Amino acid sequence: MRRYNGRMNGEKFLADAQNNLLHNLDSEKEECNIDSILLIRVELPFTSIESAFNHKNYGLCPYCFRKQFEMYINSK
Ligand SMILES: [Zn+2]
Repeated sequence: MRRYNGRMNGEKFLADAQNNLLHNLDSEKEECNIDSILLIRVELPFTSIESAFNHKNYGLCPYCFRKQFEMYINSK
């Protein structure tokens, strides 16, 4: 679910600056705990994966990036 609070203004991706995990809000899972990220104000908004990775080498959340995560693991 996209957010419009904190630093978020409807962006698809949210990075957790505390553990450097990137979340995809369009396939958010309960395990992502997005609201707790917003609660402690460590969220960073990104409109694309590319712009997020241009900023930092984020890890992908295994819950909301399940498909990409499996592809990544399988490519190792
Ligand atoms: Zn997630």
